[in-house]
Amino acid sequence: MKPHFAALAAPRRIPHLVVVSPHLDDAVLGCGSLLASFGGSVVCTVFAGEPAVARRTPWDEASGFRDSHEAMRARPREDECALACCGAKPLRLKFVDAQYGAEEPPETIAAALAEVFERVGQHGRFLPVFPLGLWHRDHECVGAACRLLLRTRRIAECIAYEDAIFRAIPGALDEGLARIEAALLCASPWHPHALDASPGRQLAALKRRAVGAYPSQLRAFGHYPPDVARAERYWRLAPRS
Ligand SMILES: [Zn+2]
Repeated sequence: MKPHFAALAAPRRIPHLVVVSPHLDDAVLGCGSLLASFGGSVVCTVFAGEPAVARRTPWDEASGFRDSHEAMRARPREDECALACCGAKPLRLKFVDAQYGAEEPPETIAAALAEVFERVGQHGRFLPVFPLGLWHRDHECVGAACRLLLRTRRIAECIAYEDAIFRAIPGALDEGLARIEAALLCASPWHPHALDASPGRQLAALKRRAVGAYPSQLRAFGHYPPDVARAERYWRLAPRS
């Protein structure tokens, strides 16, 4: 099913972005160039909490960590360096990654994000940016929270970036767009002028440097993921009028 496309006027002036990142790398992997082109943005990572009891998972082991305790101490530091490359600041929620056996309903994530937006909104206007929420359980949960916030009009609109790596899985992007359609929201391709104002090569180099600040994750990937080097793509999501 194709999403419902609508010609939405681009926001005239975007003060700064609040980018929601499921894990401690997704914002940079999926929209690092966008972050770098908007200085002073905030990245809110949802699953940045540590499980109460240390766990060992294949992903953390492939990343070079003994257990979740070591991983969740090192990864925020890597993320801090990566975000600094993009001129962004971190903000972290304490929900626990699905790889540690945790599961949160989208309603809980939506409520926590609504609080974050309310707090950040006291300091000025911003544009919320979400992942589309593709393939991975935590990503899907954040995507569902985003749709909930839009459907209940707790946010009027937002931008969604395509989840790097997962968007390359056959059918994953179509599924994500179909969920937006099913939630009676409209999605239209979005291209910010800020991206045109910065030389593409410079943004790509900045992003590459930022991604390089995640040595543990690059180790687990085994290589620089080709999809991360592909052009970022964004969608503007809003309730159907
Ligand atoms: Zn992720």
